[in-house]
Amino acid sequence: MAMQTVIRNARILTLDERDTEYAEADIVISGGKIEALGPGAAKEAREGAHVIDGKGLLAMPGLVNGHFHSPGNFMKGALGNSPLELFMLYEVPPLMDQVASPRFAYVRTMLGCIEMLKQGVTSVHDDCFFVPVVTDDEVDAVMRAYADAGIRATVTLDQPNVPEHQKYPFLKDLLPPQLLKRMSEVRLMTDAELLGCYDRFMANWHGAASGRLRCAVSCSAPQRVTPAYLQALGRIARERDIPYNMHILETRLQRVLGQENFGKSLIRYVHDLGVLNEQAMVIHSIWVDENDIALLAGSGCSVAHNPVSNLKIGSGVMPFRRLQKAGINVCIGNDEASTDDGINLWTVAKVAGLVHNIGDPQYDDWPRPVEILTALTSGGAQAMRLPQPSGRLAPGFQADIILLDLNSLAFTPLNDLRRQLVYCENGSSVVTTMVGGEIVMDNRKLLTVDEEAIKAEARSLAGEFSDYMVRCKSAADELEPYYRQMYLKALDTPVGLDRWAGPMVP
Ligand SMILES: [Zn+2]
Repeated sequence: MAMQTVIRNARILTLDERDTEYAEADIVISGGKIEALGPGAAKEAREGAHVIDGKGLLAMPGLVNGHFHSPGNFMKGALGNSPLELFMLYEVPPLMDQVASPRFAYVRTMLGCIEMLKQGVTSVHDDCFFVPVVTDDEVDAVMRAYADAGIRATVTLDQPNVPEHQKYPFLKDLLPPQLLKRMSEVRLMTDAELLGCYDRFMANWHGAASGRLRCAVSCSAPQRVTPAYLQALGRIARERDIPYNMHILETRLQRVLGQENFGKSLIRYVHDLGVLNEQAMVIHSIWVDENDIALLAGSGCSVAHNPVSNLKIGSGVMPFRRLQKAGINVCIGNDEASTDDGINLWTVAKVAGLVHNIGDPQYDDWPRPVEILTALTSGGAQAMRLPQPSGRLAPGFQADIILLDLNSLAFTPLNDLRRQLVYCENGSSVVTTMVGGEIVMDNRKLLTVDEEAIKAEARSLAGEFSDYMVRCKSAADELEPYYRQMYLKALDTPVGLDRWAGPMVP
């Protein structure tokens, strides 16, 4: 019979559909899921159960990092603020050719796991990119780190496969011939090579670690892959009912790209190619118009909202309430340590709870704290398409539970629990993190990872990484003037809508 764990006498925020809260109640956990919950539920526990005293603690569902790129984990503070198109030029330069070593990829992934588990993030949806090509060794290193850390992870292979200049408007005409030639000669993975990587990835890792690890698919963005590959991934997502990650209309320039290169919005483009459906995980969705919102809503897809990343790279403000009124499921993510300069989902939640106040003067439409908390938990779980119900505290749900110390300053004095979770908490009140019924952090100590050893190894790799960043910079610098011209030319192209908080300077 499975070992039981009982959390006794905790304050409980279930974040269920009725937003049920208990001033004092118990949770009985067995076989990785919640068996019973409520006042007096501990009476149903068997003798010999592991008992956690919940007095003075808040139990709530673990957070879901709804959109994340673990390859950015070494890049806190590494890059300044600039628009996405220039930012990516320095983060993943198209003329760069150095592959990460498996050990570096392991430590890099583990560093993110440590930061997330300590703050009560129990699930992560990692859209894992590879520079310059996907290798099985790097994929396995990433997945081993997730297996060892004890976090729940759904991971993709995010790998563009068209020449860089095809991903943008105007760039081909702006580049001098010799740079265009070098860009055209960069080795790209074929559709068949990438689908082969997915075959091995799925065979080795989908459902591994007792179902805690899952595979998903990613095109990165629809303009970054061949239409045939875009559709092949769509077939895999549908057959396996797994998420299909696609960054769409993150920036204004991408709206111009849709008009210039495809003659339609990129949302309409994926719809017309048959890959916008309930498996679709549409990331950002900022520069969408009303027709796009109707297509998103009709498809049953989820949207990932990453407001700190959107602020750092000046992408604009997602129309949160319009998506919500259309009935679209929204989750919240960090995006990555390079655009977030941290992996703190509580900070992202606070910004999500604030930024829409300057995006919409109708103050009745500003997000409410419980909506942010729901997006952080069941919204993220729904977008990950996990087979077991997750993201709420209720019988039958996955036991992904965190305990927060209500004696911390964030909750002293306690005026409004939901508001203080969104606007006061920074992750430091989390004392216990449980994933699938397994305690991975107990009294602020990680049980699955030697945190100090990983941090020491990360510091020892920092020199090698800064050399890599120097090479990235020189690979990017020669292209920068042409990307800047492209950005300015796109600014001069009307798109018929505005998602910046301030009016565009003419
Ligand atoms: Zn992203």
